[in-house]
Amino acid sequence: MIRAVFFDFVGTLITKRGENITHQNIIREILRKVGREELDYMELWKEYENETGRRFRELAGKPYVRIRDVDIDAMRIIAEKHGFSVPEDFWKINIAMHESYGELFPDAPETLKSLKELGLHLGIITDSDNDYITAHLKALGIYELFDSVTTCEDAGFYKPHERPFLLALERAGVKPDEALYVGDNPAKDCIGAKKVGMMSVLLDPDGRKRELWENCDFIISRLSEVVEIVKGLNRP
Ligand code: CA
Repeated sequence: MIRAVFFDFVGTLITKRGENITHQNIIREILRKVGREELDYMELWKEYENETGRRFRELAGKPYVRIRDVDIDAMRIIAEKHGFSVPEDFWKINIAMHESYGELFPDAPETLKSLKELGLHLGIITDSDNDYITAHLKALGIYELFDSVTTCEDAGFYKPHERPFLLALERAGVKPDEALYVGDNPAKDCIGAKKVGMMSVLLDPDGRKRELWENCDFIISRLSEVVEIVKGLNRP
């Protein structure tokens, strides 16, 4: 019997496209603040994504360090290269841009509401700082739909370490085989869930992660399919 469904955040509830636009606007806002709007923000954005991408790949499964520090550190490298300084309020800008440009998958609200009507615990397990995820969920208007939000900051480790998954189960008061985890990253989401005995659902709209599907229990192309999966598993 499934009693809880947990979700990853970026790429699962919000689109990667919206996340990219958000990051591009962070760079634009910084360049505006430091009076360097002549610089090509798209070029700087690519450099920033390379810097942060590399850092977060190295942090997978490792003890938590603040994401704001990782982001500021990456931004500092870009700023030094182009001869400006990172504004003091970098993190405030970062959160404000996420609040403005974050984009939910169109079927996310209806999927969450349908699951809630089934009487399930709805949770989030995400590699985020707490202030970031709270502000972002509130701006998207879906904060109230969740019974629990578990971050790597709470758990002290990044996915796919077991700790975030175990802490989320503890908070929901359910056993691993009573929970589903929905994510878009087979290596972090499916493997992390599997480690603690939780079933996983991979959102892979265009089948690009096919070679890693074997790590996941279910593959879906639309978020709303989660509702049918739960109903199927809970059928007597
Ligand atoms: Ca993700």
